[in-house]
Amino acid sequence: MTTFLSSANLPDEYEQLRRSVADFAKNVVAPVAAHHDETKTFPYEVVAGMAEMGLFGLPFPEEYGGMGGDYFALCIALEELGKVDQSVAVTLEAGVSLGAMPIYRFGTEEQKQQWLPQLASGQRIGAFGLTEAGAGSDAGGTKTTAKLVDGEWVINGSKQFITNSGTDITALVTATAVTGVDSNGKKEISTIIVPADTPGFTAQPGYSKVGWHASDTHPLTFDDVRVPEGNLLGQQGRGYANFLRILDEGRIAIAALATGVAQGCVDECVRYAKERTAFGKPIGQNQAIAFKIARMEARAASARAAYYDAAALMLSGKPFKKAAAIAKMVSSEAAMDNARDATQVFGGYGYMNEYLVARHYRDSKILEVGEGTTEVQLMLISRELGL
Ligand SMILES: Cc1cc2nc3c(=O)[nH]c(=O)nc-3n(C[C@H](O)[C@H](O)[C@H](O)COP(=O)(O)OP(=O)(O)OC[C@H]3O[C@@H](n4cnc5c(N)ncnc54)[C@H](O)[C@@H]3O)c2cc1C
Repeated sequence: MTTFLSSANLPDEYEQLRRSVADFAKNVVAPVAAHHDETKTFPYEVVAGMAEMGLFGLPFPEEYGGMGGDYFALCIALEELGKVDQSVAVTLEAGVSLGAMPIYRFGTEEQKQQWLPQLASGQRIGAFGLTEAGAGSDAGGTKTTAKLVDGEWVINGSKQFITNSGTDITALVTATAVTGVDSNGKKEISTIIVPADTPGFTAQPGYSKVGWHASDTHPLTFDDVRVPEGNLLGQQGRGYANFLRILDEGRIAIAALATGVAQGCVDECVRYAKERTAFGKPIGQNQAIAFKIARMEARAASARAAYYDAAALMLSGKPFKKAAAIAKMVSSEAAMDNARDATQVFGGYGYMNEYLVARHYRDSKILEVGEGTTEVQLMLISRELGL
């Protein structure tokens, strides 16, 4: 296993990937990001470009149509995309770490053969259906039910805020549902693969959101949805536990994305502070501005160190729950704080939507909420400390 010490000694294969995604982000994503944000449209052509580069297959073995890389490779790509556009980055993050990964981790050989090649190719994307109106941080509050009737799961209920769930290329949603009660009278929660074209499954109209306008998010309804018994993903009753494992990993991916945001804000500010003059000199020559940007750089570097550490622990098979929660918390706070400071450095221009820092300002808040709120990360960290 490779030891990931720092960005200064990134092994060659990751450095090459980083450069090619950075080029793609600059030349393909950045020019259309403001347009998709403004028009609230899903960036199909950008997703097709990411698919062509193999980004959706990064952590999956070649036998399932993947690139034979690892989770850290996905993180490196997410950091570069996060610098220029969060909607595109989260489409990849949710597609790979939440959409396809549960099938790779917990699927039968048949399920992997059926679904992974299309998901890893990026021709289709998957979604992760955990959250419900009454079950967010407390995801065990799931009310959606699945009953086995004549060899089929009959699913009824609803999900909310589900990313990638209603696009033209959405292949499936893996949904948690109550499938019974265990011997202690506790709800038994299982995960079921629901193909997007199943009758009774509906992605309701999308939300009006503060940001992430080009990312696809919908409430979902399941109205007597029938899927074969074989669509059970993983062991019956292990659905909640399996999804928590997926979320632990996903936090490292979202931390990489957030690190990109924090760094993207620094990069924009350094450039702007040298160009923009006030009182006869570049604004960056004022210590108040230079120190603000220096602090932003420190936040981005700390966030990166935290997610590298979590990824290294995960890939070496060591416990990584606490490191992933720390990485997710510090990086999302770094993104939000840097986005706020960046808009200040840009003055009035920082309030204009056409500027990247303005988009980061609107987009970043959700990083402190999705895939576990900051409070949930603190809960996980304190539990790991035995508190
Ligand atoms: C744009 C977007 C995309 C999303 N994508 C997905 C997706 O693809 N799949 C999916 O399943 N979900 C998704 N979500 C849902 C997201 O993960 C949840 O919104 C999040 O986990 C918080 O749940 P909640 O909204 O129900 O808030 P709540 O759980 O109701 O929390 C409200 C507040 O109370 C705090 N809180 C709750 N319990 C405690 C406690 N015990 N101690 C201290 N504070 C507490 C929380 O931290 C938060 O500040 C998405 C959400 C958004 C907005």
